[in-house]
Amino acid sequence: MLIDNHGRPINYLRLAVTDRCNLRCFYCMPEDGLNWLSRKELMSYEEILRACTLLVNMGIKKIRITGGEPFVRKDIMKFLTALSKLEGLDELSITTNGVLTAPYVKQLKQIGVRSVNLSLDTLDAGRFFAITRRDEFGVVMHTLDELLKHDIAVKINAVVMDGKNTQDIIPLVQLTKDMPVSVRFIEEMPFNGDGQIHETRLSWDHVSILNEIENAYPQIQKLTDPEYSTSYNYHIPGHKGSVGIIAAYSRTFCGTCNRIRITPQGTLKNCLYDDGVLNIKELMRLGKNDDTIKDYLLTAFNNRVKDGWVAEKLVQHTGMHESMAAIGG
Ligand code: SAM
Ligand code: SF4
Repeated sequence: MLIDNHGRPINYLRLAVTDRCNLRCFYCMPEDGLNWLSRKELMSYEEILRACTLLVNMGIKKIRITGGEPFVRKDIMKFLTALSKLEGLDELSITTNGVLTAPYVKQLKQIGVRSVNLSLDTLDAGRFFAITRRDEFGVVMHTLDELLKHDIAVKINAVVMDGKNTQDIIPLVQLTKDMPVSVRFIEEMPFNGDGQIHETRLSWDHVSILNEIENAYPQIQKLTDPEYSTSYNYHIPGHKGSVGIIAAYSRTFCGTCNRIRITPQGTLKNCLYDDGVLNIKELMRLGKNDDTIKDYLLTAFNNRVKDGWVAEKLVQHTGMHESMAAIGG
């Protein structure tokens, strides 16, 4: 088992396989997109598989594939199939915007993917367009149907944004009445790729989101949160699904953080808010062997910062202008 220098187990890897995306969510990237990584800058699938094999041998049990949009990367299903065969990996899951996902749902089920996080900030086609700058609402709803039809557990991720979709909070909660989905509301984070420093106070934080839901559903009940959960979880009596709130900006969950990240260019991040602590791809391209790379990884895990506030402070000189698509969320 991997344990960091603060006594926290590390068993979960979030792996971004591309920075490219077919949507342009305004909270994630500018309208013109990003300065996309070249193919050479990206980790190849072989390199990713090697990194995952090392990490699973060291104690990683769960891998979530993210991006950018994972399904825009060529041959993603071939890669996922290979990854799903990794000995020692207990769980492979995916975060997707659902635009290209529907045709792959059956195959995902076959290779053992049991849960998918689907990003959906609104149930209104017009607001979907205003947020994502693309007209794909219907396709995403179709993906939701396909996932449920194939009995894949779905978590819907909705970023809550003042003036953009707060009127969607209650309709999204209402989805849990007849659908066995977990709808999770996420505080907006300052990773929109435009170099703007984020306001220091969020107008819609986890407390105001909960207040809004409690006003509409006074009967809401708190659930016991699973170990390492980043969400506060709730259930409304009589509903099939559940509701979660993720204090992603308030960072209330760092004390039990069990996750690391690898960006599309192979940078290891010990924290969402750090600048990257090691480039695994570079080590591989320098010809380092597995044992040496493991030593580098262990050193990195022994130097994790306490929480996202410390991590953010350490990178403050550059400002927070990364795009979430280049991190993976
Ligand atoms: N493209 C896929 C998707 O949207 O599901 C995967 C990558 S996306 C970067 C992963 C998650 O990060 C999504 O659920 C998205 O809503 C969330 N996200 C992106 N930018 C964010 C921001 N500035 N604040 C909070 N969450 C954000
Ligand atoms: Fe693309 Fe996901 Fe970022 Fe939206 S949140 S622009 S879907 S990477």
